[in-house]
Amino acid sequence: MSALVVESGLFSYCVYYSARRRSVALQIKQGKLIVRAPLGYSLVDVKTLVEQKQPWILKHLHQSSAQVKPDWLALQQVPLLGTMLTLEVHRAVSSSIELCNDKLVVTVSRRTQANNYNNRVLSLLQQWYKTQALSWFMARTDYWQGKMQLQAKDLVIGNWRTKWGYCKNTAQLGFNWRLMMAPDWVADYVVVHELAHLKHLNHSNAFWQLVGQHYPQVQHAKIWLRQHQHQLEL
Ligand SMILES: [Zn+2]
Repeated sequence: MSALVVESGLFSYCVYYSARRRSVALQIKQGKLIVRAPLGYSLVDVKTLVEQKQPWILKHLHQSSAQVKPDWLALQQVPLLGTMLTLEVHRAVSSSIELCNDKLVVTVSRRTQANNYNNRVLSLLQQWYKTQALSWFMARTDYWQGKMQLQAKDLVIGNWRTKWGYCKNTAQLGFNWRLMMAPDWVADYVVVHELAHLKHLNHSNAFWQLVGQHYPQVQHAKIWLRQHQHQLEL
């Protein structure tokens, strides 16, 4: 398979030729247009097709770029439970991270090499979010347990790609630290959801009824998570 980069007026794209292909396909992947064409399909025809499909391409490129995670370091801010903190990064003797009012000050050790600098900042941030998550989820679990008359055994904070939380049959609850980057009312939904699993270890009607009884805006929170999950990343 060979690739060809084409510059058009508004965007550039890659054309991949393959002997196995029968027809041309346009794909938007990670904010970029990819054209897959059968071997022998002329580049002139590819360009004509791309021109014809330009409105569709631009619309999808736009949507796809909106799904890219924010570059928090460049933005110099990070979200915490619905508020935005100003992010300040310094070099000093040793690494640390400290919240002063609405400013999160990250200090990176001078020993950290330049090519590892951003990674170091991100890992310090992740550690900090995990610490925040542990105390926030402990407090909120306490609060909702009282209201729902349920009791969890223990609580862990995790770093998962595909889930916000879990409830084991041992009554252990797990919560994803990334929820610290969501508004608190959304993170609360996950607490109520996982606590409700202590009573119903399934997603039956009875389960959703229990969740809805304590947290009426379930749909709201689910939609928010679906629409914003790409922003809950470092
Ligand atoms: Zn569930």
